[in-house]
Amino acid sequence: MTQRTATDQAQGGDAIVIGAGLIGLSIAFELARRGVDVRVIESGEAGHGASWAAAGMLAPLTEQLVEPTFRKLCEDALAMYPEFVAHVREAGGVDPQLHLNGIATIAFDDAQMERLLLRSHVLQERGHAYTLLDPMQTLAMEPVLDKHVRGALLVHGEGQVNNRRLGPALLAACERSGVTISTAAHDVALVVNGRRAIGVRTETGLVTAKIVINAMGAWASQLPGVPSDCVPPVRPICGQMLALTLPHQLVQHTMWVPGAYLVPKDDGQLLIGATSEDVGFQTRVTAQGVHALLHGALAAAPKLGEFTISETWAGLRPATPDELPLIGRTALDGYLLAVGHYRNGILLAPITAQMIADLVTKAEGAAPLEWK
Ligand SMILES: Cc1cc2nc3c(=O)[nH]c(=O)nc-3n(C[C@H](O)[C@H](O)[C@H](O)COP(=O)(O)OP(=O)(O)OC[C@H]3O[C@@H](n4cnc5c(N)ncnc54)[C@H](O)[C@@H]3O)c2cc1C
Repeated sequence: MTQRTATDQAQGGDAIVIGAGLIGLSIAFELARRGVDVRVIESGEAGHGASWAAAGMLAPLTEQLVEPTFRKLCEDALAMYPEFVAHVREAGGVDPQLHLNGIATIAFDDAQMERLLLRSHVLQERGHAYTLLDPMQTLAMEPVLDKHVRGALLVHGEGQVNNRRLGPALLAACERSGVTISTAAHDVALVVNGRRAIGVRTETGLVTAKIVINAMGAWASQLPGVPSDCVPPVRPICGQMLALTLPHQLVQHTMWVPGAYLVPKDDGQLLIGATSEDVGFQTRVTAQGVHALLHGALAAAPKLGEFTISETWAGLRPATPDELPLIGRTALDGYLLAVGHYRNGILLAPITAQMIADLVTKAEGAAPLEWK
């Protein structure tokens, strides 16, 4: 294992990625695949930020994204996932458990069913595959649901990945591809000469590079040394979640029910998420948060009340004011952003990596990002 603590000496390289979440690790892996000499600097543990806290859903259609360019980006990201996971698995030897067996939104009354019908028309217009299920079909698909269920919309091709396995899988893939990863780094700061980024300083000294990529998630605006006009407007949005331990395959599909979503993992854990709270960098699990999630889950599937709560946790989504990511150059030469992925960073990891790697490896210039 080539993972290092923060004792590295200053040395040159092509690119430095700051932040080893799924965004930073995906970028590093893609850059290494293209022959770029890349180093990742992480202040904590790799893969343990929002990327660890997430549910791992790959849901560009179920999320009902409004902004058309962003919607297309998310749909393209989903299309890339099988190949991305195959490359990561092949390079690192860890299976991130990708399941694209569809995501079902469940209705319990006529108004909810009416909304699913309207959504099915939109899906049809855009050429996406789906199935509308009546109550019997819905219960046949997921017998755990309350018998008064009214129906469901199953969007084909969506699904989930085990994000807590994708982190270690990417880490292994990066290490085997020659990426240097420094964790537990202190006092991380960008170093600038004139209007050009020249490297990153940590408590052990300066590491130089031609390109520095900020992939710091919810902490993206906190990097010292960045000129004020290049500080991205990213803030944390807390999400609380919990997990139940279920008998094997009791729940088969990722489901959106009123007030919660349910995501079954291969190890028998059913993830129930998630709150959305603008409370700064706080990651408390509160009685109110857990109550709200369980209220939604148990109203939809009362049987779930029998099972053990195995874990509760909270993480920080990286949000921009318009809730769209910032992926690209800045007005500072050599300083790139891959931040603000908000609710869809697991989904967007492969396409973000591709976009940043294109900027690093292809000569043509792109206009710097702009934001308000
Ligand atoms: C409860 C919850 C559920 C979610 N569910 C989904 C989902 O189902 N599907 C989906 O697509 N997305 C989901 N998301 C969103 C997704 O988790 C994020 O968009 C994504 O993980 C962001 O990845 P990242 O690598 O940018 O951030 P992170 O994973 O947070 O990584 C950022 C890294 O930067 C490091 N860092 C911070 N400061 C410094 C510094 N000074 N120096 C060096 N390193 C630093 C951090 O330690 C961290 O490791 C969810 C998020 C939450 C909280």
